[in-house]
Amino acid sequence: MTQELLPGAPHLARRDADLWLDGVRLADLATEFGTPLYAYSRSAMREAAAAYQRALAGRPHLLCYAMKANSSLAVLKTFADLGLGFDIVSAGELARVIAAGGDPAKVVFSGVGKRPDEMRTALQAGVHCFNVESAAELETLSAVASSMGKTAAISLRVNPDVDAQTHPYISTGLKGNKFGVAHDEARAVYRRAASLPGIHVAGIDCHIGSQITTVAPYLDALDRLLDLVEQVEADGIPIAHLDMGGGLGITYTDETPPAADLLVGQLLARIDARGHGHRTVLMEPGRSLVGNAGVLLTEALVLKPGRVDDGGKNFCIVDAAMNDMVRPAMYEAWLAIVPCHQRAEPPLTWDVVGPVCESGDWLGRDRALAVQTGDVLAVLSAGAYGMAMASNYNTRPRAAEVMVDNGRATLIRRRETVADLFRDELIPG
Ligand SMILES: *Cc1c(COP(=O)(O)O)cnc(C)c1O
Repeated sequence: MTQELLPGAPHLARRDADLWLDGVRLADLATEFGTPLYAYSRSAMREAAAAYQRALAGRPHLLCYAMKANSSLAVLKTFADLGLGFDIVSAGELARVIAAGGDPAKVVFSGVGKRPDEMRTALQAGVHCFNVESAAELETLSAVASSMGKTAAISLRVNPDVDAQTHPYISTGLKGNKFGVAHDEARAVYRRAASLPGIHVAGIDCHIGSQITTVAPYLDALDRLLDLVEQVEADGIPIAHLDMGGGLGITYTDETPPAADLLVGQLLARIDARGHGHRTVLMEPGRSLVGNAGVLLTEALVLKPGRVDDGGKNFCIVDAAMNDMVRPAMYEAWLAIVPCHQRAEPPLTWDVVGPVCESGDWLGRDRALAVQTGDVLAVLSAGAYGMAMASNYNTRPRAAEVMVDNGRATLIRRRETVADLFRDELIPG
């Protein structure tokens, strides 16, 4: 019997007692590569990108993978091979794009705090566009570009002041957060941009938040953006492209986000209805391209049953921790945790926690699991903001990563060694 675990994760299924990803038994991966281990389905990534591409086909567009969600080179190569560009937030990410064989001419450079040397590097590489987030950044960018005899193509990240109804830490489109230029200031900033020698106005962008599960906030943001485009063009400044950012959510538990092609279809319909169909459309999805393509495998190290007399909890201590997957600790994110091989006995309720010396080091609370020491558990929906946010806290080497493709698993990142961790440290004599 085959049973899918999550909508939007078609390559992850339980067949009888075992969990499989893209034709590979996950328990076998843990045996071969050790734990903690990130495993990704390449087919799932390709299909997630194809949903956007289907909807954008037939009109000028650039689909840029927001690589901060998962910047491993093999992941970038998967998307570069499909013709995608990349949304980057640092010169380090640009170096990764180039190392993975991506095209710098398809890169948009986002971020509130770009250093002048990063601007220079990006101009030298020939990125498609800078997504400028403040009036001050514009001045610096113009000066840097002029000093190189170049012109920087820019888009202003406008804060449309719409509520994406997501977690406050991942909501970015409301007034009063650090991102973007306020809607009521944008027209003046565009006028200034058009007057600067090192700047070429190319487009407009917004990014209203992450893990958005309805279409409405996108349409609201789009309307606000189009209002501005009409004003800016009335000022004689052409806007060639509209960049709707990223942020589409995925199913972690019972969320029902729109499919990417449905979201894009509705955005394009609104763009056309308002007479803007001639503009190039950019999008910057991150999480929705990789989130449900990945799992984090971890072994149960210690079981600490709670004491019934003080209402204690049962703790299942696993070998993955907040340094490997910080989303539960950081955003109180809920990730499904399931055994790679299902036991027949009835489940107990466990808090699944890591070995790190922090009470915030948990992966899941109050989970029904039949688990024994040595069992391998899979943390689902771990492909986005998992490995990319991993740290070495507690001098824990970062996990290994494997790419699974139609029954074949390939190591794409060796497990870090302890020696790697203090190789760059010096002890004064
Ligand atoms: C993070 C980010 C994205 C991607 O967001 P997801 O929620 O992962 O899709 C896109 N654009 C910008 C500017 C971002 O900061």
